[in-house]
Amino acid sequence: NEKTVPSRKAPPTLVRRGTQIRLAGVTKDYGLEVPAVDDISLTIEPGEFMTFLGPSGSGKTTTLNLIAGFDTLTSGTIALNGTDVGTLPPHKRNLGMLFQNYALFPHMTVAQNVGYPLRERKMSKSDIARRVSDVLDLVQLPGRDRNYPTQLSGGQQQRVALARAIVFQPEALLLDEPLGALDRNLRATLQAEIRRIHREVGSTFVFVTHDQEEAMNLSDRIALFNNGHIEQVGSPQELYREPETLFTARFLGDSNVF
Ligand code: ADP
Repeated sequence: NEKTVPSRKAPPTLVRRGTQIRLAGVTKDYGLEVPAVDDISLTIEPGEFMTFLGPSGSGKTTTLNLIAGFDTLTSGTIALNGTDVGTLPPHKRNLGMLFQNYALFPHMTVAQNVGYPLRERKMSKSDIARRVSDVLDLVQLPGRDRNYPTQLSGGQQQRVALARAIVFQPEALLLDEPLGALDRNLRATLQAEIRRIHREVGSTFVFVTHDQEEAMNLSDRIALFNNGHIEQVGSPQELYREPETLFTARFLGDSNVF
């Protein structure tokens, strides 16, 4: 059980008290029959591990993209620590992102990939070197800095992508089905790693998945999506033991984690 792993602290250069993410009346209408995201209001607390769970097409990724700024709101507001970011471009929101396909730069070494966000922020070479070394320790890839992505396994590449996503101390980390491409064993290992890193770094994590067990294992709270709205928000135990709707009961009913 990964919960028994002793809690350490990441190096201070990587620790960040997470931001609060507040969605109010968030709507995205692509002009289809129903809005992709329909009037969602939700507050994600600083340092919380929040999972967006729900079937395919229920609006999870669209909501995450609206938080990231990859997509524009039809209506509603999104605030980070009380500041409205609804019209800010993605790079001004200072959020880390991790996807299923890690999208590492193939012509760059591991160190160059991980250092990329810091070079963009004009950090000094010596600070970058120290920070890259710290974060590669945190994701348990010490000594791989000179490797190229193709010399690493899928799981190792995803660790590099995770390192790159947190190296600049983002306000929050947004993860969209990051383990979807990995086999079952590797998935379990990296779930535990993501949980540990969340605990050590202390930042706000928002994680998208359609997998109930994954959501149950990882989350402080789950927002269960259905058809563009949120059916119920609560801890894994609350959703499992006290479902408020038939949809929640059915969606979580076949998971076997408690
Ligand atoms: P999920 O992440 O839960 O699988 P999505 O947020 O990807 O769901 O999609 C929600 C709905 O919005 C779906 O009906 C999807 O087809 C639609 N949708 C998503 N992106 C676009 C887009 N760029 N243009 C039109 N429709 C979209």
